[in-house]
Amino acid sequence: METRGSPQYIQTSLAASLTLGLQQGSFHRNAKLKGLNLLLHYEEGCLGRCHFCGLSMTRQEGPRGKTFIRVDWPIYPLEEVIGRAREKDQIHRVCISMITHPKALDDTLFVIQRFKQETDLPVSVLISPTLIHEEGSFKAMKKKGADRIGIAIDAATPELFDRLRGKGVGGPHRWDHYWDVVRMAVEVFGRFYVGIHLIVGLGETEKEMVEAIQKGQDLGAYTHLFSFFPENGSPMENHAPPPIGQYRRIQLARWIINETLGPMDQMGFDEKGKLVDFGVDIKPLLQRGEPFMTSGCRGRDGKVACNRPYGNERPSGSIRNYPFTPEPADLEEIKDQLDIR
Ligand code: SF4
Repeated sequence: METRGSPQYIQTSLAASLTLGLQQGSFHRNAKLKGLNLLLHYEEGCLGRCHFCGLSMTRQEGPRGKTFIRVDWPIYPLEEVIGRAREKDQIHRVCISMITHPKALDDTLFVIQRFKQETDLPVSVLISPTLIHEEGSFKAMKKKGADRIGIAIDAATPELFDRLRGKGVGGPHRWDHYWDVVRMAVEVFGRFYVGIHLIVGLGETEKEMVEAIQKGQDLGAYTHLFSFFPENGSPMENHAPPPIGQYRRIQLARWIINETLGPMDQMGFDEKGKLVDFGVDIKPLLQRGEPFMTSGCRGRDGKVACNRPYGNERPSGSIRNYPFTPEPADLEEIKDQLDIR
């Protein structure tokens, strides 16, 4: 049987597949996908064992029909994805996600090159730090044409990281190495051309999450926030998503830190680590929706291009990352959810 592996084949997010017309459907509230998220694919899957991920080796469903971050990632020929992406003006960026597999680095370079030769889209790479040990890997990506790097640290503390991604699950990833790789990426790509992914709700306090965001900021990396969603079949399928109030407070703190409106040491937390004081007047910030929109790599127009519609919630519930500017009714709801007096 033919194996449909990378680099000739690539997985797209379901949202990307719909946007490219490879599947039929539309988004709740007519959200428009702006960033094309792609994922390398190998029959053997990812060699990581992260407890919350649908790609993990420990996933109960076995290696076939794997999913990644909640929804299906269908597989298409790279050729076809590039051809369709070229015709879609609404797409402002492409992101190639590596997975932890020995071929992933070489295949990523190949896919970057194909996109740069055949489209005018800017390219991000969501790297697998465990595969990267020297600046030369980043220099090669830059030379092929990538301009931004994402690093999925995901867990906000060394203890959680180790328990969910490292030794606790017999996985290969190490907290200190991930942050060393953030420094390396900033060295090659420049300050704020690097972003870290952090997932809210893996068991950290709000204070610990804000500390991780500030650490990224100090190193020259923006934070791209995700809200934990229990993946069916993953070992954390019964772990609840974070309360919406917690997510809103972290979104606002992230905005304040990444927009350099104020640092963490001006913020206040209660004895349980809940954010109770943002250190700045938040009223004007609540009149605008940006703090609650998806945070991600920017596109040609300088605005966030990776808007991942409904990437970590169900359309029927509250929107966690708004893929469009929130409307006045949304802003009213957000103010209630924030639960700040
Ligand atoms: S924010 Fe989006 S485009 Fe940027 S690295 Fe993360 S997934 Fe990729």
